[in-house]
Amino acid sequence: MNDNPAIPQSLSGTTYPSADTIFAKIVRREIPAKIVYQDEFVTAFHDINPVAPVHLLIVPNKIIPTLNDVSPDDEQLLGKLLLTAQHLAKEYGIDKTGYRVLMNVNNDGGQVVYHIHLHLIGGRALGRMVSRGES
Ligand code: AMP
Repeated sequence: MNDNPAIPQSLSGTTYPSADTIFAKIVRREIPAKIVYQDEFVTAFHDINPVAPVHLLIVPNKIIPTLNDVSPDDEQLLGKLLLTAQHLAKEYGIDKTGYRVLMNVNNDGGQVVYHIHLHLIGGRALGRMVSRGES
């Protein structure tokens, strides 16, 4: 039963694991975020600390901690995340100029929030994919 009127009806049948994340709270609209897209499967919103003029996060409504935890059952969901990135890149006018879509995984990947998400980044030239680092 959807007791929270802020949650779209389309999400009310979704079951959430007991583990919770800041992004799950955004999905359920329990904490504020600039949501730009939401459907039954995914939610997209502005990154709170953008690194480029366009920096959106695209998350599955369901909590999956890291890419390592994805199962074959999630195949369609992963496609949905990418198609949402494609759609938003066009909507934000960066599809022709170019953009980057990335997912950080675990410590060395720089993952901070353990609820998988795509970063959609664009609106300026992004340079090298990964800095060479110190070592
Ligand atoms: P990652 O390092 O891939 O886990 O990225 C996590 C991203 O989430 C960072 O770019 C943060 O700026 C962003 N972030 C953390 N908390 C929030 C929030 N409440 N609303 C929007 N973006 C957030």
